Amino acid sequence: MNLPYNASQLDQDPYEVRGFPHRLYIGGQWLPSSDGGLIEVTDPSSGAVIAAVPDATLEDAAAAVEAAAKAAKGWRETAPRKRSEILRRCFELMVERSETLAMLISLENGKALRDARGEVGYAAEFFRWNAEEAVRITGEFGTAPSGTNRIVVDYQPIGICVLVTPWNFPAAMATRKIAPALAAGCTVILKPASETPLTAYALAALYSEAGVPDGVVNVLTTSTPGPLTSAMLADPRVRKLSFTGSTGIGRALLAEAAKHVISCSMELGGNAPFIVFDDADLDAALDGAMIAKMRNAGEACTAANRIYVQSGIHDAFADGLSRRMAALKIGTGTRAETECGPMITRKAVDKIDRLVKDAVNRGAKVLCGGSVLEGDGFFYPPTVLSEVSPDADMAHEEIFGPVAPITRFESEAQAILHANNTEYGLAAYLYTRDVARGMRVASEIEAGMIGLNRGLMSDPAAPFGGVKQSGLGREGGQHHGIAEFMEAKYIAVTF
Ligand code: NAP
Repeated sequence: MNLPYNASQLDQDPYEVRGFPHRLYIGGQWLPSSDGGLIEVTDPSSGAVIAAVPDATLEDAAAAVEAAAKAAKGWRETAPRKRSEILRRCFELMVERSETLAMLISLENGKALRDARGEVGYAAEFFRWNAEEAVRITGEFGTAPSGTNRIVVDYQPIGICVLVTPWNFPAAMATRKIAPALAAGCTVILKPASETPLTAYALAALYSEAGVPDGVVNVLTTSTPGPLTSAMLADPRVRKLSFTGSTGIGRALLAEAAKHVISCSMELGGNAPFIVFDDADLDAALDGAMIAKMRNAGEACTAANRIYVQSGIHDAFADGLSRRMAALKIGTGTRAETECGPMITRKAVDKIDRLVKDAVNRGAKVLCGGSVLEGDGFFYPPTVLSEVSPDADMAHEEIFGPVAPITRFESEAQAILHANNTEYGLAAYLYTRDVARGMRVASEIEAGMIGLNRGLMSDPAAPFGGVKQSGLGREGGQHHGIAEFMEAKYIAVTF
């Protein structure tokens, strides 16, 4: 395909990322869009266009649903052991190619290579975990209370699934859906984010090599996700929508799915509190805060968005955090030494800038960073603010960037009130040496996931998901993730 862009950066890359196909992947074929349209992909470190991918049309979306439907019977009837072995092979291939995949993620997303490597490992684990889950799907058998019959419950694949994913974890958000869907026996159509499509296509090539039959996974990119998703959901063969992204788009998609009574899983926005009590281990809390805040340069749904620190430890914590944040090396994501890469777009930088200015106007003090970095690329420096008002916009909106806003608190009750003062409920972090207090506060906080003396909780073996406006359903965990792609069939038996 002759592309109207200069791909020189890919040519210079030490890894052969240019060798990855990036056309629509439908029914095992690599295809241009039916009208030849393209979407440009930008390197956030420079602002330069580095690739272009097909801009799928309604016709292409219909072809993807057709391909998924054609493959559905064969895949659901494939023995669980065989499905498991194919998923295991996906895991192995991802691990073998982890450096190349990490470079590709870093290139299109901008995240530091060390974060990209972490993401590939995390993403691959969904295949390993779900390979193990695929052969552990069991049903139920019991006697009806009346004694007249037996109750048999069989769990079956839900059917064709539409999967929509964001740009902040281009590999992991895709494998977190594809792996359990395939383990359950479903076929899928993945619509990755327009900003980061290259990783999704690179993974599609890998699935086929691992033995995933044609049509079981289809991938398409589009600049018109609304109409295309609506058209796919309107096809009666589609039975599931699994979405990860912002709460606003999630709400719109729930309304769309309701028209056709389609099962939905929604992994939406977050506004995680990070609470440090006076008795916390200061170094451990600082280590945890750096991970919870700076993984992916703050572009994570679980990122610590509000940091509440008790008065007795406040000054030492604020000082320690600003020293660590100010020492981070900012730069192009693909450079080995980079610790904080660019934001995904100029618009993202502008939003962070607006939130910081608003907090400062309301009395926050800038301890480090605090203003946009000029020059090429979309950079915002690691920033620490103290005395942030609970009324500041950033206490209620996702910052999605390297800004750590600190607010002082006095009592446990006040910390809980602050933490729950949000419409979101995805993740929360607590640091205390008093385990009883930790468990008490964890049970009071309205969030789907709590890190107690830990700054990282993502784990394929644990149920990931939120409450309130952070979503519906869980991904990963024992039975949770895979259950989202199955439905119960009850058979009443008399014998
Ligand atoms: P987004 O704007 O909601 O986009 C997410 C996906 O939805 C993209 O593929 C996007 O396509 C697509 N989309 C946009 N409009 C659509 C529509 N009308 N119909 C169907 N699909 C549509 O979110 P984002 O900016 O990519 O990601 C950041 C958000 O995701 C944050 O709020 C973050 O907290 C959340 N997130 C949540 C989790 C979690 O597990 N809870 C994990 C990661 C991220 P285009 O790219 O083409 O616009």
